[in-house]
Amino acid sequence: MILFNQKMGISNTSYDDLLDNTCDKQPLYSYYELININYDLLASLHFREVTLMYRDGKIPMPAERLHPHNSVHSIIPSYRPYFYSLSKDDPAYVALFRLSTIGDSVLHDDNITCDKKLLGLKSIAPYVNYYKGYLLGLRSIRKHKIGNLDSLVYTMFKLKMGLMDIVYEGEKQIVVDIYECISCSGLPILNRPVCDFERGFLTAAITNIYNREVETREVECWSTGSTKCRFIIQFKD
Ligand SMILES: [Zn+2]
Ligand SMILES: [Zn+2]
Repeated sequence: MILFNQKMGISNTSYDDLLDNTCDKQPLYSYYELININYDLLASLHFREVTLMYRDGKIPMPAERLHPHNSVHSIIPSYRPYFYSLSKDDPAYVALFRLSTIGDSVLHDDNITCDKKLLGLKSIAPYVNYYKGYLLGLRSIRKHKIGNLDSLVYTMFKLKMGLMDIVYEGEKQIVVDIYECISCSGLPILNRPVCDFERGFLTAAITNIYNREVETREVECWSTGSTKCRFIIQFKD
């Protein structure tokens, strides 16, 4: 088969020749092609109601994790059905955020084969992301967006960071779950939590709301096998 006749300037290769219909293509970047959800119904619900549905396990979860190409592309797939029901651009919004935050730390992750480690440097991304989140938390406090736990929950929703659920509020610590987290929802297993941005944001907000120093630990994450993030916010005094 003559592929290309230089002189005539025509090609014999047809569109169908290029199409390889043999292999069943797995949707690479979208959980939304795998799970059928009534997004119009979901979009009609209040975000606090959806958070409670998550707490009660009423939101369908993907049976398996997308792990395209076992490469840095692995940070792209996100699973945020509620934010997706409100805006079909959500996957792009999340991808952009991740490429500018966790992308660097994932590049340095041994679980993700990447032939060229960035400059051979140990990743500083976790510290940078924590600080970015902390600054955003401070700015939100200063702009009076956050004055108590309730407005913190609302601000996290408005900033499309995630659906925050206060699981426990006590004298010594506060326990917070985040569903549809912008940093990690939909990630493959990376064997360590990656939501340093949210950890910084929560630390700044809670420190200022209570006027007490806190230390925030992430104890559950999509990247450690969970389908939510859990943070323990410990008062230092
Ligand atoms: Zn997260
Ligand atoms: Zn996480």
